[in-house]
Amino acid sequence: MNEAAPNIVAGFDVERARRDFPALAQEVNGAPLVYLDNAATTQKPQCVIDALSQYYARDNSNVHRGAHALSDRATVAFEDARKKVQAFINAKSSSEILWTRGTTESINLVASSYARSVLTAGDKVLVSAMEHHSNIVPWQMVAQTCGAEVIAIPVSADGELDMQAYENLLDERVKIVAVGHVSNALGTVNPVEKVISLAHAAGAKVLIDGAQGVPHFAVDVQALDCDFYAFSGHKMYGPTGIGVLYGKADILNAMPPYQGGGEMIKTVSFAGTTYNELPYKFEAGTPNIGGAIGLAAAVDYLSGFDRSAVAAYESDLLAYTHQRAANFEGLQRVGCARQIAGAFSFLLAGAHPSDIGMLLDQQGVAVRTGDHCAQPIMKQFGIPGTARASFALYNTRDDVDRFFAALEKAKTFLM
Ligand code: PMP
Repeated sequence: MNEAAPNIVAGFDVERARRDFPALAQEVNGAPLVYLDNAATTQKPQCVIDALSQYYARDNSNVHRGAHALSDRATVAFEDARKKVQAFINAKSSSEILWTRGTTESINLVASSYARSVLTAGDKVLVSAMEHHSNIVPWQMVAQTCGAEVIAIPVSADGELDMQAYENLLDERVKIVAVGHVSNALGTVNPVEKVISLAHAAGAKVLIDGAQGVPHFAVDVQALDCDFYAFSGHKMYGPTGIGVLYGKADILNAMPPYQGGGEMIKTVSFAGTTYNELPYKFEAGTPNIGGAIGLAAAVDYLSGFDRSAVAAYESDLLAYTHQRAANFEGLQRVGCARQIAGAFSFLLAGAHPSDIGMLLDQQGVAVRTGDHCAQPIMKQFGIPGTARASFALYNTRDDVDRFFAALEKAKTFLM
């Protein structure tokens, strides 16, 4: 099956990359692991594991204000990590990079602080119908408190944003547009440049949920001109518990703080408290120092590749998957947008997705099944969920072949 298997595509050597990930070299249920659950979380390269372990073994200390060497070292590494993320997404200033726990917290920060302060009764927040729950629920929670409305931008049966319907929805009551760069449930790559420019022309601010964007292609927040961009470390080869909110400095400066506590203040008195400057105004309490340092190692790791070569490799792998899927009897793709990255969602006639997942796992193939935290789009498609194989830079055509072989075997139990 592997005739044209290009394991070195245009300057990217996947076999070499695979050796960086110790977790890939294991057997699961008696078979070599095929890890296809990368949209949920990616495996970690040794350099990220080493960065975490070296930080805890050598430099562990609280950051800022420490009067000793370890605290100085931790502070330098922590702030260098912020600068690395700034360069990685081409933000204008490192003070526009806020550390969060992940995409979910980044969106909650914008909803709680920005949205709560600007939305009034009758205002609207537009999200797409294919959003992850974390890009729906925070807006609903805030909208409820101020009489605003969260409205879904329609999505076609192929899983594409209906741009005409979007334009029609944009009026002066729309204050915020929040759309995913790439859908975790369908793999759709949304035309975010157009989404952003249309929103701006209508006077709305835009948040892009980049959880599934940054792992697959280079992102330039200045070129996009988005107001906010949110992503998670653990989906881009970094640790869990660390993520990023990028925001334009003028907007962040005007926003009220998100949480109160240490670090986010300048002075505290019972007569009145004053707040710290960016980015610290939004970073109450001891941050995830090790996580930030681990994420910086992941940024270094990704930046060590020609990212467009990696993106070309991944899209070739997805095209190969689609080609094999087209010849697999009983398989139905869910999400057939013209531009897709990362995820391959599907159904097998007569089989429940969770049974597919279990039967694949018994053969060492890890996928995810369910609604992928995207119940509205599943409801629109009239299905409870899908099975989803999702790819990272270390997956190969051999993984895809093993996935389809395991699916073929699963079919004999399911039908
Ligand atoms: N948005 C999208 C598109 C996602 O795929 C995910 C994770 N599945 C999230 C948001 C939430 O990310 P996290 O759980 O890391 O906060």
